[in-house]
Amino acid sequence: ERVVLEARAVSKHFPVRRGARSLLGGPRLAVHAVDDVSLRLRSGSVTALVGESGSGKSTVARLLAQLYPATSGEILLDGRPVRAARGRALRAYCRHVQMVFQDPFASLNPVHTVRYHLTRALRIHDRAGSGRQDLERALTELLERVQLTPAGRYLESFPHELSGGQRQRVAIARAMAADPRVLLADEPVSMLDVSIRLGVLNLLRDLKERLDLAILYITHDIASARYFADETLVMYAGRMVEGGDSETVTQRPAHPYTRLLLASAPDPDRVTDGGGEDDRGGDATVPEEVDPSSVEPPSLISPPPGCRFHPRCPMAMERCRTQTPPRFDLDGGQWAACWLYDTPAGAPGAQPAGAT
Ligand code: ATP
Ligand code: SF4
Ligand code: MG
Repeated sequence: ERVVLEARAVSKHFPVRRGARSLLGGPRLAVHAVDDVSLRLRSGSVTALVGESGSGKSTVARLLAQLYPATSGEILLDGRPVRAARGRALRAYCRHVQMVFQDPFASLNPVHTVRYHLTRALRIHDRAGSGRQDLERALTELLERVQLTPAGRYLESFPHELSGGQRQRVAIARAMAADPRVLLADEPVSMLDVSIRLGVLNLLRDLKERLDLAILYITHDIASARYFADETLVMYAGRMVEGGDSETVTQRPAHPYTRLLLASAPDPDRVTDGGGEDDRGGDATVPEEVDPSSVEPPSLISPPPGCRFHPRCPMAMERCRTQTPPRFDLDGGQWAACWLYDTPAGAPGAQPAGAT
């Protein structure tokens, strides 16, 4: 397992158009969608990125896919910084780093067949071969890879003739046509029937193992992260708050937000989407006593100072309201960005590692 794709202290701020919302009076407002995020994706490994709606998960994926530039920070492929890739360089990058989206129906063109979608992807990435036979072989191989067999049954189908799960498999096959090293899967199963989610996750796991893929698995559902991901990262309000191997993070969560997520996690058999709440009008005032579930996620236009979770945190201390907690390293590779772990070096369970 080596690091293929890395983000170092990446931030993305979206300028807010004036007059877009009534509460915006002053100039130069921005949505702090992602702040100071660092992560590493390793070959042959699934990394889950978990967090509630609006926490910045998709923005992280789009930054990694170079769909737009970061406001600050660096993205590295194989240890080399990727700066504003364009033209040929961008195409090479996209070959290595492919994306799969939540809604396979929206990502496939309804007027084209599976054959068209896959052939086009193979051609774009120069993998269609030279003759008719090469192409047929490549198409069959792709469909077999995503377990749509016999290939002949699916090649001439239109998206509406397939089930949701089959469509998502086609979308995955299309991503695989590039022969990528990294797959960014943004809630790949949340629109699918509960009964077929596991099948698609198992397929992704199989691809990871056979092709040594690095997979970023974005989800609301921390229970599925435990099942499916080697490593789990937790985001809250644009920041990364905890990370570690999935078993540890889900069994012994360190960050109060991760604990809240786990406490409210639906049981894994009926995982559903948290519903895309769009209106995040939370404020940054600090109630005396907090029932975390009753407090809205914070506004990302003026995020709470200090720890962004402090308005909802039952453990909040004075310093949490003003000082941003750095990452503290815990045992076994786990870490948490939380002042609770700012204990003297050598204290059981937590050793401060300083700022990242
Ligand atoms: P969900 O789970 O609902 O998909 P998410 O964690 O993927 O949420 P993002 O889509 O990354 O969250 O959005 C993070 C924040 O950035 C949100 O407040 C969102 O409104 C804002 N945002 C995302 N894209 C843009 C954009 N292009 N312009 C302005 N704001 C944006
Ligand atoms: Fe809670 Fe403070 Fe830790 Fe933030 S830093 S999660 S407010 S204890
Ligand atoms: Mg999203």
